[in-house]
Amino acid sequence: MTNAENSKIPPSFEAMLKFSQAYAKRTGTFFCIDTSVTAVVIEGLAKHKDEYGAPLCPCRHYDDKTEEVSSTYWNCPCVPMRERRECHCMLFLPSDNEFAGSNQLIDIDVLLNSIV
Ligand code: SF4
Repeated sequence: MTNAENSKIPPSFEAMLKFSQAYAKRTGTFFCIDTSVTAVVIEGLAKHKDEYGAPLCPCRHYDDKTEEVSSTYWNCPCVPMRERRECHCMLFLPSDNEFAGSNQLIDIDVLLNSIV
């Protein structure tokens, strides 16, 4: 079975991976040394994009996701990330973070193997 045929993968997964790579490069941040962290966060962002039309941060609890999407504060990249480079999901890490790896690019198959 190819990745595209795997129905567990959200349709927006690849788009969110591309966004994450471009944004890491733009902000000088790096993916986590633990690839499964990166995979799960991107999967969560993609699910929200598919279900609610925007990549709402997957690492928080919301009483009403539709309302949160329209407020835009936690749509990725969220306000804390844009203003202070703070990503509590550990998707975008500064190089001096103890969990930061050295990658701003990551192979989609490596990610998919971490979540399926
Ligand atoms: Fe995106 Fe912010 Fe969540 Fe990090 S904390 S994944 S930047 S929304």
